[in-house]
Amino acid sequence: MFENLKEQPADKILMLMKMFADDPRERKIDLGVGVYRNAQGVTPVMRAVKSAERTLWEEQTTKSYTGLIGDPAFGDAMIGLVLGNAVPRETVAAAATPGGTGAVRQALELIRMANPQARIWVSDPTWPNHLSILNYLKMETVPYRYFDAETRGVDFTGMMEDLGRAAPGDVVLLHGCCHNPTGANLNMVEWQAVIDLLNQRGLMPMIDIAYQGFGDGLEEDAAATRLVASSVPECLIAASCSKNFGIYRERTGILMAVAQDAARQPVNQGTLAFLNRQNYSFPPDHGARLVTMILNDDALRAEWTAELEEMRTGMLAIRQQLADELQRLTGSDRFAFLAQHRGMFSRLGTTPEMVDKLRTDYGIYMVGDSRMNIAGLNAQTVPILARAIVDAGI
Ligand code: PMP
Repeated sequence: MFENLKEQPADKILMLMKMFADDPRERKIDLGVGVYRNAQGVTPVMRAVKSAERTLWEEQTTKSYTGLIGDPAFGDAMIGLVLGNAVPRETVAAAATPGGTGAVRQALELIRMANPQARIWVSDPTWPNHLSILNYLKMETVPYRYFDAETRGVDFTGMMEDLGRAAPGDVVLLHGCCHNPTGANLNMVEWQAVIDLLNQRGLMPMIDIAYQGFGDGLEEDAAATRLVASSVPECLIAASCSKNFGIYRERTGILMAVAQDAARQPVNQGTLAFLNRQNYSFPPDHGARLVTMILNDDALRAEWTAELEEMRTGMLAIRQQLADELQRLTGSDRFAFLAQHRGMFSRLGTTPEMVDKLRTDYGIYMVGDSRMNIAGLNAQTVPILARAIVDAGI
């Protein structure tokens, strides 16, 4: 049977990581993989996470199964973090999932169960795993214009034109904040216009929010998701705790289904439990428990928020330094977009040939579409990158 299996295409980012590891140059810079790193190049265990783990180690008396949707306390804590008071709690169904990826996968499976005809509109570009999962599930995918190659901001006119062609019942996949891979985001006026269009055309939003707290702040980054959830009849929200709690390998995420009224919530809740059962039964608990402990304890929550703010403002400072350095070297504002982008990524907006050149000639590694991980830089490497961008002729 195994002879029928074909070799799967290698993951581009993992290939890039290997090339970086094999590069003997000392001054090489890794802007590839999407993991936060501090100025020392380390992906730290956050202080509040360490504290919670210590307490958990002391106090946890069993590792028996939780429930199919995970510990309901995790759901409550995460609904609070993401949605605040935007919608009545009794309209929201939620289930823990293995990471944000698990939540995306379950959301798409739920859509396929509920409406096999639905087409999924995805930003061009989007996180490649969205496309890969959609393709695997054999769901029809339609790209909508998103990134303006000229301004490196959002092509809002193009986006609205394209979504204007969506049919009732279609689903629009939106990044709640900190768009991956571009770093370009809608402003609140544009979000409102998207919501009006969704409602006019009977489209359902699915929001993927994987970087809450990495852009403008915890509340600010949730504002668009909250506005959508409170303005449409129903929506799906896939949230990840990997980045903002730094618990990547613990596989911690949540899928929320917000219904029009509380009467629908039980069936949605049951469906989320059913989908977990079919795919992996009980979701992982360790990361979810740490998140719950942190969010429900004032001191831990304050510690976590403070460290997340340090990370966020550190990334903003790097953005500003890079934009300033490029302004100084080029005497123009054409790289000002780097300071306007939000989150961990910016799409430089150059050609694959230039990306190759940066790697080959300067030891600077970024993804082929010119996505840079801003957290891969520090005060010392920013000038090196800026110089290389200018010298390469970008
Ligand atoms: N959505 C987006 C847009 C992402 O960038 C990521 C992380 N790369 C995820 C979801 C999910 O990440 P994880 O499964 O590690 O929580």
